[in-house]
Order: sequence, then structure tokens, then C-alpha cells
Amino acid sequence: MVTTPDFDVIIIGAGMSGLYQLHRLRELGLTARVFEAGTGVGGTWYWNRYPGARFDSESYSYQFSFSKDLLDEWDWTEHFAGQPETLRYLNHVADKYDLRKDIQFRSRVKSAWYQEATRSWDVTLEDGSRASCRFLITAVGPLSAPTMPTIPGVDSFKGESCHTARWPHEPVSFVGKRVAVIGTGATGVQTVQEVAKTAKSLTVFQRTPNWCAPLLNSKIGPEEMAEIRANYPAMFQRCMETFSCFLHTPDPRKTFDVSEEERQAFWEKLYASPGFGIWLGNFSDMLTDREANAAISAFVANKIRQRVKDPVTAEKLIPKNHGFGTRRVPMETRYYEVYNQDNVKLVDISETPIACITPTGIETSDADYEFDMIIYATGFDAITGSFDRIDIRGVDGARLKDRWKHGPETFLGTTVDGFPNMLMLIGPHMALGNIPRSIEHNVDWVTDLLRYARDHHITRIEATADEVKTWTDHVKELGEGNLLFEVNSWMTGVNTNVEGKQVRIVNRYSGSAPAYRARCDEVASHDYREMALA
Ligand code: NAP
Repeated sequence: MVTTPDFDVIIIGAGMSGLYQLHRLRELGLTARVFEAGTGVGGTWYWNRYPGARFDSESYSYQFSFSKDLLDEWDWTEHFAGQPETLRYLNHVADKYDLRKDIQFRSRVKSAWYQEATRSWDVTLEDGSRASCRFLITAVGPLSAPTMPTIPGVDSFKGESCHTARWPHEPVSFVGKRVAVIGTGATGVQTVQEVAKTAKSLTVFQRTPNWCAPLLNSKIGPEEMAEIRANYPAMFQRCMETFSCFLHTPDPRKTFDVSEEERQAFWEKLYASPGFGIWLGNFSDMLTDREANAAISAFVANKIRQRVKDPVTAEKLIPKNHGFGTRRVPMETRYYEVYNQDNVKLVDISETPIACITPTGIETSDADYEFDMIIYATGFDAITGSFDRIDIRGVDGARLKDRWKHGPETFLGTTVDGFPNMLMLIGPHMALGNIPRSIEHNVDWVTDLLRYARDHHITRIEATADEVKTWTDHVKELGEGNLLFEVNSWMTGVNTNVEGKQVRIVNRYSGSAPAYRARCDEVASHDYREMALA
């Protein structure tokens, strides 16, 4: 029986990748519907409106590059824009391309089941409504499934409480309040810096310290914006050539190729430069040579000691179980100085664990704390979590969650055998890096594949099992020898708050972005012969 699905394409999510994919699909003349759980566009930048949320990468390098018109009409006001500015930008994109008319908001996808007989997907929303499509495109984001800690009593707290990725849309005041922040990743660090400015008291519950480095943000005036804009072609070209599409890329020298004096001078320069340079523009062996990693870690540890007055607190803030850069480096603006303020206290919960959340606050193994507000900056069920939260079933009802129980298996991070006509944007095993750059390539590749399918009357696209195995093995091999894969973090799939996610896996492609793109382009250039198209 041949029936026509409701839409050629359903896209899950109206973040950056969903928005751009919708825009590109229109060129193909395909019918598309985007289902978005939120009430507005923006994805990450819609949900993460916690205090202090901002880009950790240069604003202009993190915008869309596909339209000169768009580039010409948007001015950035800061080198590292705050969340409200970025959300305004994404709303501007949605308006400019009239994207909202194909987006259905307040529509969280509950399940997506593949139907072989019709070569289509049946998508069911949480409200029970349904729609079908030929191709299902997931634009669900790698960091969009927030996780609350599995601490007893979380629901019992009577004051205000919130996960950072579910922050209210209304302004929240900290004035006169006793505030707790649990979690010290990139989100916790940004939150702490902001809350400390006005809260009566701020208590930070830290389980594992992270290596943070100065962001050194500044405003962009009209003249500087004009200079930045004039440089756009060269800047985007550079992004396409660097290892992870960032403006920063590893220095080809190795740590011990240079004298001690030269090394220290290089690190001082990086520490005093804005953005990710110290993480991504450091010596090329920083994440592969243990001695090199220990040396840069010692350098940053000394910076922390210099900035935090109380030596005991300083030592607590220095990571001991992982080296610099082996987890995502949170970028900070006077984060360490916050601990010199009288209204701020650091509680090291690796020493005195949280026993429970009580109706009035937090009880640790050695103290009872009372709070007016608890902020959970406890992170995400990363990369595969947002897939796991949808009941995705492929051929013969096989569940994607079961298939990926021991880690994702994909071809190019975009397809999985057994799940025909499902295409993933910014999925597992993809080159993430500077995400908007990766999104543009990923969406363009998927768009070309769908154009090919349309032109050749193809209604079924599936990766072959052999190619999925080859790509998955390749991604795992790339991770070998990289110290980052020896450390627990969202980048290695570990989340202590999610059952079954305590074991490290390789969930990200860690080769270079140019190599990733070259492989994708090769597949396209020989008419996708690695895939079964019918
Ligand atoms: P995260 O890096 O996973 O940090 C979560 C924090 O919560 C960690 O400190 C973790 O401690 C703690 N935690 C989790 N469960 C806990 C529990 N049960 N008890 C006590 N502490 C607990 O998450 P994130 O900070 O939200 O950042 C995730 C990623 O989002 C970043 O790495 C970055 O890629 C992205 N991000 C980007 C920006 C930006 O570009 N501006 C800003 C924010 C986030 P452990 O370390 O001990 O697990």
C-alpha cells in the first residue's frame, strides 16, 4: 500500500541546526514541519537563559555564514555575546527567512516509529497528536537533555529552585537571598560569577573542580564591527581550515621543543588573550603527552593560587584528578576572585558529600545549610540523551536506545543502519567543535543527499551495516591516545545522574573537521555508494 506521508520531512527541534535545515529544505521544494518543544526558536540559546549565560567563542565566528545579506545586517555588540543577544539574533534569522510558519511550538516529540510498508516515519507528540513524514531529521542538539542530580529530597525543597537549562523567562532577583549553586562546569562557573554580584550569600557545591581560563570579553564598537565584517571572508575561511573550526587551532610546536622561558612566555600570552586560545591554541601535544599536560596544568594551577587569597580554597579549586584541557575548559570572568568575596563560600562535596536536599536547604555529611534558592547547574545527558528521551524505533520496531546501549554506532554521525530515512544533525560521532560551522556543513550535506534522493526518485535511505561498523571503529581509533578520553565528563558519555551512563564511551569524532568534511564530501561525490538507496 502506498500512502503519501503528511510531510516530506519532519525536523525535531528549532535550534540552530533545525532552523538552517528548514531554510535549506525550502530550496528543494519539499514540505517540512518542525516540531519544537519550546515556545520559541533558538534551542540551546532559548533554554539556557540562566544568569551569566554567554558565548565562550567569538560571537562572529559562531553565527551563520551562509548569507552575506544576513552577515551584513547583524552587528555584534560584544566579542562574546550574552545569551539575550544570541537569542535575538536567532529570532532575527527566523523572521528574515519566515521560518516560523513551518514550526509548531510547544510540541515535544514523544516517539518516532519507522514504517517499512510506507517507507515513512510516524511521529507522535506528547499531547497525543501524530504526523507522518518520509524523512525524519533530528536536530535535537548534543547538550539539550538536562539532568537533575539523583540526590534524595530534591523535590522536597520549599524555596525557589531550578535547573540552569530550565531557567524562567521572567527576571530572577538574588538580592537579599541565600543562594546555593550545585555544579561547577561551564554553566556553573558562568552562573556563580553572576549570582555572587548581588546575592546575600552564595554557597557553591563543587564535586569536581574544573580548569577554568579567562574569557576576557569586551564590547565591540561600530568601527571595530566594520573591521570584523570586512574580515568575514578570511575569518570563515580560517574556520574551515582549523582543526575544530574555531579561530584557535593547536600550535604545531610541541611543549618541550622550546625553552622553559619561551614556554612560560607563550602560556602567559595565551592566558592573557581572549577566548579558547589557551585550550585550543596551545602546544600540539598538550592532550597526548602526559608530561606536557602536567606542565600546562602546573602553570594554570599557579594562576589559580595567585588569584584566590585563601590557600585552602585555592587548593580545592585546583583539579587533581584530570589535567588541563582534558575536560571542556569553562571560560571565566573573575570566577576565581569570587571566592575572595565575604558573601561566597565553597563547599567541597568530594570531602563532605551532600546527604540530601531538605525542605529548607542542603544537608552535607558535616553541616546543614539553609537556602532561599537552589540552582542546579548539573549538566546534561549529553549527545545521546536527547535521542534516548524519544522512543525512536526503526525496522522491526528495534529501539535506537537499545542499539546504542553500549555507545552510539553511526555512519558519519548522520545515519544508522536499521533506521532508514532518519538523518541526524550534530549527532554522535560528528565533528562538533565550533558547532555553527559544523551545523552548516552537516545541513548542506543532508540537503544534498535529499536533493539526490528527490532527483532519483529514492524513497529509502539507509546506511549499510558494514559502513556503520567501519565508521564507528574509525571514530574509536581516533580517540586512542587522547587524554580527554581517559577522563569522566559529558565528552566521554559519563553522567552519574543517568542509569547506565557511568562507563566511558567514545561518543564524539575527535579527528580534524577538515578530515571529517573530506570523508562526507567523498561519499557524496560518488553518489553515496556506502549507503543503500532505493
Ligand atoms: P557539566 O560540564 O556536565 O557540569 C555539570 C556539573 O554538575 C559538574 O560540576 C558536575 O560535577 C556537577 N554535578 C552533576 N551531578 C551532580 C550531583 N549529583 N551532585 C553534585 N554535583 C553534580 O555541565 P555544564 O556546566 O552545563 O556544561 C556542559 C557543556 O555545555 C559545557 O562543557 C559546554 O560544552 C556547554 N556550555 C557552553 C557554554 C558556552 O559556550 N558559553 C556555557 C555553558 C555550557 P562532576 O564534574 O563531579 O561530575
